[in-house]
Amino acid sequence: MNASTDVARLEDLVTTMSERMATITRTLGTWVQQAPHDLQEIEQHVLRIVKELGATLVAGLTALLVPTQPPRTVACPCGHLAAYQRQRPATVTTILGPLTLTRPYYLCGVCGHGLHPVDAQLGLCAGGRSAGLDELVALLGATQDSFAEAAAVLERLTLVHISPNSVLDATEELGATLVAHQAQQVAQTAAGHELPVAATPSPERLYITMDGVLAHLHARGWSELKVGCCYQTRSRPARKRPEKLEIRAHSLSYVTALVEAESFGDHLWQEAARRGVMEAEEVVVVGDGAHWIWNIADAQFPQATQIVDWYHASAYVWKAASAIWGEREPQRADWAHRQLGRLWEGKVGQVLVELEQHQGAGEGVEEALSYYTTHQGRMDYAAYRARGLQIGSGSVESGCKQLVSARLKGAGMIWDAEGAEQVAVVRAWLKSGRWAEAMGLRAARGRGYERKEHVRKREEGGAVVGGEQAAGVSPGAVPAGRGLAPEVLAQVRAEMAQERQQHPWRRPWSRKQQRAHYEERGDHVRPAAAA
Ligand SMILES: [Zn+2]
Repeated sequence: MNASTDVARLEDLVTTMSERMATITRTLGTWVQQAPHDLQEIEQHVLRIVKELGATLVAGLTALLVPTQPPRTVACPCGHLAAYQRQRPATVTTILGPLTLTRPYYLCGVCGHGLHPVDAQLGLCAGGRSAGLDELVALLGATQDSFAEAAAVLERLTLVHISPNSVLDATEELGATLVAHQAQQVAQTAAGHELPVAATPSPERLYITMDGVLAHLHARGWSELKVGCCYQTRSRPARKRPEKLEIRAHSLSYVTALVEAESFGDHLWQEAARRGVMEAEEVVVVGDGAHWIWNIADAQFPQATQIVDWYHASAYVWKAASAIWGEREPQRADWAHRQLGRLWEGKVGQVLVELEQHQGAGEGVEEALSYYTTHQGRMDYAAYRARGLQIGSGSVESGCKQLVSARLKGAGMIWDAEGAEQVAVVRAWLKSGRWAEAMGLRAARGRGYERKEHVRKREEGGAVVGGEQAAGVSPGAVPAGRGLAPEVLAQVRAEMAQERQQHPWRRPWSRKQQRAHYEERGDHVRPAAAA
């Protein structure tokens, strides 16, 4: 590009914008002087006009990127040269409204591929949405009660109208990127290629909990999405009874997937690794009585302290009490409180003896017997309390449910399986403080054929498409091989299920425990995972 032409074009834009601003100010000034207006009226007027002005500025700035004298040929991905044909207009919807720009069009005579090098440079998808608008749309699609509501809120906030279906597309597309990313990370770890690196400072004590939440799916009916949460706790004096310490969860992060329990274990392990489970001094798994939870705990976090959530455990006392005494008898509450006291002190054995004396009183007793027998080893509440452990996962569990239920279980909502998982995963990343990271992954995708080729050529040190620099786009920012197509994803999951058993990363996991483990064996060769 010619430097003096560049200066002249920029000066033209400056003049256009300044004149427009002056006109607007004059018009608005006269309008305000002619009749009294309140702040709301002025605000609305200015907002609309500022948006129009912004759209003009964006159009002007992008036009500066279009070469006045386009090169006659550019490299085609097929290896031949594509020849300049003509200028072609393209429209893209941005946060500031529709943006139209005219850019050079090239055609390869060998493979017949058409090219718009400027689109690759801008990350522009002709006829589509800008990356900025896409982000807002996906954010609203994942957080509002429905896609229709998201479209309405978007219009209210930005004056841009898009259809509920477009909101669905944008949200699920982001979700698909994140689902593929998760699957790929799990696959890389399982194949031993890449161990996850803790993204947050390693906690001394990491809590892990998991739960299942039902969503209504086409073809499958009610199906369970699994949700896991990693968190830490801090103790502080209770507000009403300052002599008592209360333990609060913080730094919650979530992972969710529509998969079988065994596969979910790998997803959860991945998230735990991101949260520093390998370096944590202590790991605690809290959950309800579902067997899959404890199978995952045994398989993925073998030396964690396992705790059956206090609220679930105590509910069985009440069920048994109702079976023995009926709902209304005063003895019911007395008896229940006596058993709860025992549980609280970790004396599950005494509760079991008591329950055995009432065997045959009803289902509630049988259920309690079975539950306490199965989970006896996870109910040493006195010891857990002495160690300062949180024995209830109530708040975290409701967070887990919220992640899925609040968005996926609206009245009459039926989802296709992929869409449900995608939206839930977007919410999980958002609520885990990983939105910016999600946006980064998205930028690496979806810019089409031209963009990918462009970056590849740069990396190879070959010709740069269109002879232009891709300003602000570093090839390093585009991770290789990211983003799996759904069919590849399915295959990866199937392969992982096969490989799962024999892989070396399924080993002791905390540094402290690995130290203990290897010192015990007098073996000082440590697995790579600990290095
Ligand atoms: Zn070609």
